Amino acid sequence: MAKRIVVLGGGISGYGSAILAKKQGLEVFLSDAGTISPLYRQRLEQWGVEYEQGGHTMERILAATEVIKSPGIPDTAPVVVAIRERGIPVISEMEFACRYMGSARTICITGSNGKTTTTSLIFKILSDAGYNVSLGGNIGESFAYSVATGSYDWYVLELSSFQLDGMFDFRANIAVLMNITPDHLDRYGYCFQNYVDSKMRIVQNQKSNDYFIYSADDEVIVRELDKHPLRSRELPFMAHSAVASGAGDAFLAGGSFTARVGDSSVEIATDKMQIKGLHNAYDAMAAALAALAAGVEGSQVAESIYNFSPVEHRLEPVAEVGGVLYINDSKATNVDSVWYALESMTRPVVWIAGGTDKGNDYTPLKEFAAEKVHTLVCMGLDNDKLMREFKDIVPNIISTDSLEAAMEAARGAAKAGDAVLLSPACASFDLFKNYCQRGELFKAWVVENVK
Ligand code: ADP
Repeated sequence: MAKRIVVLGGGISGYGSAILAKKQGLEVFLSDAGTISPLYRQRLEQWGVEYEQGGHTMERILAATEVIKSPGIPDTAPVVVAIRERGIPVISEMEFACRYMGSARTICITGSNGKTTTTSLIFKILSDAGYNVSLGGNIGESFAYSVATGSYDWYVLELSSFQLDGMFDFRANIAVLMNITPDHLDRYGYCFQNYVDSKMRIVQNQKSNDYFIYSADDEVIVRELDKHPLRSRELPFMAHSAVASGAGDAFLAGGSFTARVGDSSVEIATDKMQIKGLHNAYDAMAAALAALAAGVEGSQVAESIYNFSPVEHRLEPVAEVGGVLYINDSKATNVDSVWYALESMTRPVVWIAGGTDKGNDYTPLKEFAAEKVHTLVCMGLDNDKLMREFKDIVPNIISTDSLEAAMEAARGAAKAGDAVLLSPACASFDLFKNYCQRGELFKAWVVENVK
């Protein structure tokens, strides 16, 4: 039977998949219930891919032999329910694209936090070392588009749990699992274990010559590993526990870490890195292990790590004016990432937080808030919960409902030697289009108004 591929969703993942299907000579139709951006439409047209937007033609969709679902579309969407009822296989872009990548190898990074930083760092180390490498997944171009339009030896892929859910035969040669903390529970039936199971799919299909890099300090991961016997070689990284692994490991102690894989190793002094804090040390350990496992020399790994600057919107220093350092951590949209942001602060903090609360439990933040934060500026349409939670903890709390008001308040409260930290713990959708826009407006305000 001829393959008839239907791609659901015309965003970055969907149009890449459709173009790859076309390139492979498969019959393909892309359907998006919303609007497809003009750039993606233009590319689809260039490649002669048939598509529709503003609704789904069910008859055509249900005639598919296989459906590639974009990660943003939940399983509960009626179109997905109808497809599954017919027994039509639903896969993710990764699952589809890996069939056509030839003998290339993959380094796949997942976790609740730190994916983008670690992925970008691994990509930098491999590119600096002269590898023929592509960056993809949730970051940069889509994996499918890169497979369709280029030819690479290595793919460094950032994977969300939604991508992992649609992966069945895909195999990560080097899998990296940063941590597992509650996030996206609305997409997992409000059951943490469902989300955990999704993350653990990163090791499925691994073989004995593959590597699995993971945080041995993460209790959830360690517990899961007891349940999932691994075929691959383990490379744990840690700052608190001690898990010796024959294949290699990385351990942070006394301001430096050593990462070792087989006979190669590298030692990194964390205070010489441009990315700061324990969380970034974890990201660097994971990246060092991945790069060593991919065969990069230790000295090259060190050079690239020291030259790596923070990815935009992740604890990104914006400017220091009058002794006040402004830091943009707009990407911190959950409690765990803010914990690490506060952990890394070495100055008194004016903390800007708030937005759309995702059912947050703020308890883990209270100790650092009491120790380091003198002013909390709430920035959101509904600040009640945040104010209630921190009222006996932070001496000065100011409620605002716009970026301008929040920034004025923060500037007024900050003294020389302080940091003004935007690290919201919340999604941005009440006042902004997304976290990028929130971070960009923060930076623009600082550049224009703080002199
Ligand atoms: P992701 O792609 O998983 O969202 P990012 O690298 O974009 O991860 O970082 C998201 C947020 O989490 C940022 O605020 C960042 O400072 C923080 N973060 C980065 N690495 C870690 C880590 N290993 N553990 C916890 N938080 C982290």
